[in-house]
Amino acid sequence: MFIKVNDQPRAPRYLRGSAVVNRRRCGKPTCRCATGAALHETTVLSYSEAGRTKFLPLRPEQVAAGRAAVGRYRAAQAALEEKANAALAGLVEVSRPKSRPA
Ligand SMILES: [Zn+2]
Repeated sequence: MFIKVNDQPRAPRYLRGSAVVNRRRCGKPTCRCATGAALHETTVLSYSEAGRTKFLPLRPEQVAAGRAAVGRYRAAQAALEEKANAALAGLVEVSRPKSRPA
């Protein structure tokens, strides 16, 4: 998903899903996470595919660009839905039978 261009990871313009932070214990008894005070954090892209939720771990250098791409997708999707809803409302309006003059 992230293509390297000139050794820099380049995020796609749009990503469908959500960037979610996972917090977990690694299981090593001596690790800082063992007490539960400082858990390991991994940001993943959560997305659905064929009705199933999937998770794709993001490398630290991918997180900011990934979040931005998710935000652009949401904004573009909302704008598209607004236009499509307006078009639908217009179509419903013109197809409605004319009301009789009072
Ligand atoms: Zn740990």
